[in-house]
Amino acid sequence: MSLRTYEIITKYIGKDSGVKVVLEPNAVPTCDIKKKLIILPSNIKEENVFAALAEAMHEAGHVRITTSKIAQLATDEFEHSVLNAIEDIRVDRDNFKILPNIKDFYREEMRMLDKNRRNAQDISLSARILCDIIMSLEDFSEFCVNSPDVWTVINKHGLLRKAENLIWHLNSRQYDEARDELKAICKILREEDKKREQPKKQDQDPSSGVGKERPGKDKTAAMLDEGLKRIVKNKEKVFALGDEAGGNTKSDIATLGPLALKEQTKNRFVDLLDKKEKHNISEDQGKLNTDSFPSFLTGDIEDLFKEMTIVRRKKSKILLVLDRSSSMWDKLIDGMRKDRLVVKTAKTIVDILKEVQEIEGINVDYEIAAFAAEYRLLNKETWEKEYFSISMPDGTRLSLAFCMAQDQILNDIEVDGNKLIILITDGQVRETQIDDIKSAILKHNQDVRCLIIGIGASPQILKFIGADRNIVAEEIADVVLMEAIQDMLEG
Ligand SMILES: [Zn+2]
Repeated sequence: MSLRTYEIITKYIGKDSGVKVVLEPNAVPTCDIKKKLIILPSNIKEENVFAALAEAMHEAGHVRITTSKIAQLATDEFEHSVLNAIEDIRVDRDNFKILPNIKDFYREEMRMLDKNRRNAQDISLSARILCDIIMSLEDFSEFCVNSPDVWTVINKHGLLRKAENLIWHLNSRQYDEARDELKAICKILREEDKKREQPKKQDQDPSSGVGKERPGKDKTAAMLDEGLKRIVKNKEKVFALGDEAGGNTKSDIATLGPLALKEQTKNRFVDLLDKKEKHNISEDQGKLNTDSFPSFLTGDIEDLFKEMTIVRRKKSKILLVLDRSSSMWDKLIDGMRKDRLVVKTAKTIVDILKEVQEIEGINVDYEIAAFAAEYRLLNKETWEKEYFSISMPDGTRLSLAFCMAQDQILNDIEVDGNKLIILITDGQVRETQIDDIKSAILKHNQDVRCLIIGIGASPQILKFIGADRNIVAEEIADVVLMEAIQDMLEG
């Protein structure tokens, strides 16, 4: 599991919100808003990393914007659950503004909980209604429960608008108005829950509702709370524990430190790229070896000729392909822009290659290309500036770029050594493009080695390249890069 990514993201979540995020083995996830402390298990299951990150960010968001004034608005358990659900929308939307990538993490969490939603008929109506309000207002409507009774109620009472009003009042700190709106929503939900529980009982006391609820054990509130836990906030599922020992497989390399890692990578480059070609010149073309005259006497005619050996170094080439679609303007969790870090990362590779060329005398060439909706080769001298300045139609045609890079390097007749492609992308692409790349890689597997590195990458591409191959912040860029390159060189 990509523990390093999880660690580093939770660290920045903490920094950003003034919260201390502590990862402990087997910990029960807790969020203490007053102490500004979030404790999360370090050993979560690999497939849950994104969902866990979404939850961690969510909790940090509460610490950031859920004030004690807001917590005091609810006067009973039912109101508390409803307020919580709607405050969750406010928190999540605030999170989406901070980092566009977060939405992908959330989507993974939604996908995971969606299975519970589909058989949700036994769950309290108000829980299902709140679930669909959250999904709709967070722009995840594909994960709505979508049962007809839910949407009859939402539409009949204009609940989406009421929820929006409540959020508006919370944002504007109009607490009296917020309380009124909350009470109005709760009244509707309670009444609809009651109708569902007692469909035969037609003649209800018109004064039923909030005022008439029994104090203490509130069955409707308990059912709402339980329902929400199952289909909206399933912490047990999100933070299900994985193997305590497993996971941190990469830390041995990480502890080496970036400098040692760079040195090691450089040496691997030298090993891989130092391909010598020997031509032995046959005897008749050779020169007479005057040092071997004793051979003449002993009859070893062949030794009379010096073996002429010409050593020629084979030429290898590395093609760096950099994503420059508009999503690369987004910032990473540490505030670093993806495009700036891509150039910085590519420069690290170029510097290593130059060193390998100059100091070790390895015959390796490199080229740099950029892509968005098009693929373009950049000038080797001015590529850093050019990356930012060239105009190109926007889009992320990852598979096109990849195939063009492959064609380019395969058809380079000067290159008789190794051929490598290193492509860096945030991978905001459809599944079909990833399939295209997979088949392109397989097709030329023998001739070109390919490495795709993510930068604040989307979960869909991380499933393909591996969650560890993702640069989520500047401080781990070199480590991720070096590890990936070493893996490629060894593979
Ligand atoms: Zn919450």
